[in-house]
Amino acid sequence: MKRKLSFSVLLMGVLILVGSTAAYAATYLTYGYPSSTIPIKSYSYNDTWQVPMDASLSNWNNANAKVTFSKNSNSTNTITAAQFDYEDYGVNYVTYSGSEVTKFRIELNARKISADATDFSKFVQSVFVHELGHSIWLGDNPSTTSSSIMKYSRDRNTMTKPQTFDINNVKAKY
Ligand SMILES: [Zn+2]
Repeated sequence: MKRKLSFSVLLMGVLILVGSTAAYAATYLTYGYPSSTIPIKSYSYNDTWQVPMDASLSNWNNANAKVTFSKNSNSTNTITAAQFDYEDYGVNYVTYSGSEVTKFRIELNARKISADATDFSKFVQSVFVHELGHSIWLGDNPSTTSSSIMKYSRDRNTMTKPQTFDINNVKAKY
């Protein structure tokens, strides 16, 4: 009887842990871009935006995460920097079928980024690199003590690149 009770309590603890973890944090989304080469429609902004946006693609491409983001004028995957009313720094609207991303549209919210950035270039990279992560399986705010570009608590004025935790997670999917 005592043993049975202990097992029930243990089981309940495990269920609560799994349930609450899944509710607000996930290492992986249930979908990702099917190819390791990911096209993005070519974009053109003034240097204040263009330079950190280009650097964001390079930050992934040079991370040895097995993925390459490449600009392509015919791509339906888009990136837009503009003033948006919502409170997020960035959003990635992903369209997917089963586990495969078919299209994505990233927005960078100039209004929110400008308000909170002390290092504008780094802040843009931190947001863009994070949003690109959502196209290659990475979920928001993973439960880990490791450093991660996907964490809400990261310092966006200093963290511009995918971290070892992020790189390993992406490599495992490609
Ligand atoms: Zn996110």
